[in-house]
Amino acid sequence: MYFTEEPEHIRQLRDVIRRFVAAEMPPELRRRLDREHRFPPELFRKLAALGVCGLTIDEAYGGQGRDLVAAVAVIEELCRGGAFLAGPFIHCAFYGGMNISENGSEEQKQALLPRLARGELLFAYGLSEPEVGGDLASVATTATRSPDGRTIRIDGFKRWCTGADWVDYIYCLVRSGPPEARYKNLSFVLIPPKTPGIRVHPIEHANLRYTLSSDVLFENVEVPASQIVGGEAGWNRGWRMLAGRALDVEKIEISAVTFGIAQAAVEEAWQYAQDRKQFGRPISGHQAIRHALAEARTKLEACRLMLYRAAWLAQTNQPCSVETSMAKLFIAETGVEIALACQRVLGAYGLAEGHDMERHVRDLLGMPIVGGSSNMQKNNIANRLGLAGEERA
Ligand SMILES: Cc1cc2nc3c(=O)[nH]c(=O)nc-3n(C[C@H](O)[C@H](O)[C@H](O)COP(=O)(O)OP(=O)(O)OC[C@H]3O[C@@H](n4cnc5c(N)ncnc54)[C@H](O)[C@@H]3O)c2cc1C
Repeated sequence: MYFTEEPEHIRQLRDVIRRFVAAEMPPELRRRLDREHRFPPELFRKLAALGVCGLTIDEAYGGQGRDLVAAVAVIEELCRGGAFLAGPFIHCAFYGGMNISENGSEEQKQALLPRLARGELLFAYGLSEPEVGGDLASVATTATRSPDGRTIRIDGFKRWCTGADWVDYIYCLVRSGPPEARYKNLSFVLIPPKTPGIRVHPIEHANLRYTLSSDVLFENVEVPASQIVGGEAGWNRGWRMLAGRALDVEKIEISAVTFGIAQAAVEEAWQYAQDRKQFGRPISGHQAIRHALAEARTKLEACRLMLYRAAWLAQTNQPCSVETSMAKLFIAETGVEIALACQRVLGAYGLAEGHDMERHVRDLLGMPIVGGSSNMQKNNIANRLGLAGEERA
C-alpha cells in the first residue's frame, strides 16, 4: 500500500489531526511552549480523547487494533505543528503501548494496555547512559535480585531520559546478569520515577524542547520483580526485545517526526518566498529560490516513500532492520539539508523570533543523532547486508 493511494481511514485520520492542530496549536502557543521547554498535558488529554493512543494496541486490550502506518501518520501530522504533542503521543502509544503489546507479560498487558490506549499512562526510554550512546549493549546500570527473588535493586545512571520528570514509568534497560554474557544479561524493568532512591536532573538542550531530557540517578532503588518487562520470562531477554521490534520502530518514529517538521519548514519557506518582495518582485520569482524550494519538495517526496514503506513493513511483521535504518539515515540527513535550505529562503528571519523556522532548524539538526546516529544506521545496513569487515564487540 505504501506506493499506491493512501487508505481512506488514514486520510480521514489525517484530516482530524490537521483540524486539531489548526484549532489547538496556534503558532504563538508553539513558540511559547518551545521557550518554556514544556508541553500542555491538558491538550494531550484532548488529543487522547480522539482515540489515537490505541493505534498500537489490539482491540482485545482496549486499543483501536495495531495500525503502525496510521500511528506514523498521526506523528507526521502532529509534527507539522511542532513536536509538542507528537512527543507525548510517542511516549504513550509507542514507548508504552507498542512495547508492552510486543513484550509485556499477560498480566502487564491487562493492567497497562487499556490505560495506555486511553492516554492515561506515559513512558520514558531509559537506554542511554553517560558512557553509553550508540553502544547500548554496554549499559552499566545494574539490576540485582533479592535472595528470595521477589524484589530487584537498581543502581546506576541514565542520561537523556526524555520526560523522566512527568512519566509514570521509565522503560529502563539494565544489566541483569554476569558482565561476560554481553547480550544475554540485559533486561527491561518498569520503574516509576518517584520511587525512593531516584534523583532526576534536567539537561538544557536546544532541540525537541517539548520537554526536558534528564539525568536519572538510581541508588538502592527497589522495585517488585513483577515490574520486569515480560515477567520472569523476560529476565535477561532485554536485548532480544530491543533488537526484536523496538529499535526498528524507534527509527520509524524519529523518521516520522523529522518528516513532519521538515514539511512544516518547507511550507513556511514556500509561503514566505511568495510574500517577501525584493528587487521589485516576490523572491519566489528568483530562480535560485524557486530551485531550492523545488528541490526541497522533491526530497520530501523521497522521504515520504521511504518512511511509509518502512512503516508498512513493520506493520506487516516483515523483517525491516535494513529498511528502517535506510529510512532513518536518509530522512534525518535530508531533514538537515531541508532545514538549511529553507532557513536561507527566510534570510535573517530564518534565525529570528516571530517565525517557526529557527525552531525547525534546531529540531532538524538533532535528528541524525537522536534514536541512533547516522553512522550507527550505516553500520547496521552494511552489517545486515553482509559487507565483509564487520566489527564484532
Ligand atoms: C533531545 C534528546 C533526547 C533524547 N532522548 C533520549 C531518551 O528519551 N532516552 C534515551 O535513552 N536516549 C535519549 N537520547 C540519547 C540519544 O539517543 C543518543 O544521543 C544517541 O543514541 C547517540 O548517542 P551519543 O550522543 O552518546 O553519541 P555516541 O554514541 O557517543 O557517538 C558520538 C559520535 O560517534 C559516532 N560513533 C559512535 N560509535 C561509532 C561506530 N561504531 N562507528 C561509527 N561512528 C560511531 C556517532 O555516530 C556520533 O557521531 C536523547 C538525545 C537527545 C539529544
